[in-house]
Amino acid sequence: MTPVFCTIVPPHVLDKLAQSEDPALSRPARQTLQRDAYERTHRRLTTVLGAPATPPPPAAAGTPHRTIYDAQHKTTLPGKKVRGEGDEPGKDATVNRAYAGLGATFDLFLKAYGRDSIDGSGLPLDATVHYDEQYNNAFWNGEQMVFGDGDGEIFLDFTIPIDVIGHELAHGVTQYTANLTYFGQPGALNEHVSDVFGSLIKQYTLGQTAAEADWLIGAGLLAPRVSGVALRSMKAPGTAYDDDVLGKDPQPATMEDYVRTGRDNGGVHINSGIPNHAFHLAATALGGHAWERAGQIWYDVLTGGELKEDAMFAEFAALTVSAAKARFGDGSDELRAVAKAWEQVGVRTL
Ligand SMILES: [Zn+2]
Repeated sequence: MTPVFCTIVPPHVLDKLAQSEDPALSRPARQTLQRDAYERTHRRLTTVLGAPATPPPPAAAGTPHRTIYDAQHKTTLPGKKVRGEGDEPGKDATVNRAYAGLGATFDLFLKAYGRDSIDGSGLPLDATVHYDEQYNNAFWNGEQMVFGDGDGEIFLDFTIPIDVIGHELAHGVTQYTANLTYFGQPGALNEHVSDVFGSLIKQYTLGQTAAEADWLIGAGLLAPRVSGVALRSMKAPGTAYDDDVLGKDPQPATMEDYVRTGRDNGGVHINSGIPNHAFHLAATALGGHAWERAGQIWYDVLTGGELKEDAMFAEFAALTVSAAKARFGDGSDELRAVAKAWEQVGVRTL
């Protein structure tokens, strides 16, 4: 089991910001990249040593066990405990959003898929808010969630989009299940799975159908001066932002525009646009609540034991087709919708 160190803002976006001539934009980006590099190394060390960040869960199954900490703008984790499970909301909206986001993630996995927390065994959910100063990111370090406040110029408070919280925690679910290698196509599938469940957590919380959902990742995170609506779009990959400072959203929507790159772990946050688009097409073709049918099929693949750590898009796609058939039957609408969606994005289902 290898935890993924995924920051919601990928390095290629921060690299671009770090090159800005305006120090108000470049300084927070550079500091964030330095922090991310440090945390990535530190995470590896704690993983090797197996140091537990949290005590074993209490006995009660099927209920979340959340703890929110405040880093008070420093970088020591986890920081000062500010809210435990069942505590009343306090004055800090950031703390309350983090608490609610962890709860929403727990709820979707439990109520839609019968999964007790991200490890399936009631893992306590810990999060730290107000991490560092002007920190432009949020991440799951294999043990807990961490949120920055953003620099206020490009990024706002990272607890604002609930799908960002869901995306990061879903990396934990992948870590405990298929454990997809974080490079190239399996890495893009790892990112894709997190975007799928991140978006489904938002849709579940808002009670939205596939047609009503925005299918964006990180809506509400970009400051008003940025020309863009979110970090990524599952509906129309490549259209989330097009900005003087941030550059243009590099995601392809189909295999025709697949990006070959050594950056970003072989484009894990870039080529994830292709399976993201396929999921959106399948879910909207089926209609209704996306977590019930399309989400169930993807969850079955993730947890079914057949998905290999180094799976390529075509192997993953073939497994979704088998999972649709196994759960909904040969000749079912679900099977047809899933097979057609992969065809539309140019991924063969073997
Ligand atoms: Zn990620």
